[in-house]
Amino acid sequence: MKSLDGLIDTYKDYPKKGIEFKDVLGIVQEPMIFKELILKMSSSKIIENAEAIISIDARGFIFGSAISLQASKPMIVARKPGKLPGELLEKKYNLEYGKNSLSIQKKALEKYNSYAIVDDLLATGGTVNCVSDILKNNDKKVLGLLVVVELIKLQGRSKLNFPVESSVFF
Ligand code: AMP
Repeated sequence: MKSLDGLIDTYKDYPKKGIEFKDVLGIVQEPMIFKELILKMSSSKIIENAEAIISIDARGFIFGSAISLQASKPMIVARKPGKLPGELLEKKYNLEYGKNSLSIQKKALEKYNSYAIVDDLLATGGTVNCVSDILKNNDKKVLGLLVVVELIKLQGRSKLNFPVESSVFF
């Protein structure tokens, strides 16, 4: 059986020169390894103690929704511009390769008080900080972050003031 890190391909200079893109999509092509990963992530105390999961557009949805099912926790989403209807809470942020903004549906966020953030990868921490700022500005608790991959050199973890759990380190 293949290993988890062996399923993550690296693409140099994608989507921009200087970026080493880590492609996690190979994981979902190996259901047994995907399942093992989801069981491990779902058993985290961060997930156990959170009222709900918030997963980040778009690859975060793959892992967030599987964890949500396995752990029987509700999931809400943070999405890129133009993707969500209704009244939104929005914040702009800097990405490792550009700028972006994320939105959360106000109505969804109002339902739960404590959150575990889920994404595929932690790089500079800008994306996760954006989501955590929206949550905190709306008096919600952030219990921690779960990601599949952490890019250690970018030190995203040092910018976050909550626990971070990662499964693969590059
Ligand atoms: P950051 O805000 O810098 O921590 O970037 C994290 C977000 O951008 C995640 O949602 C990732 O999907 C994406 N991302 C950033 N850098 C990379 C990379 N080198 N490889 C794959 N995805 C990345």
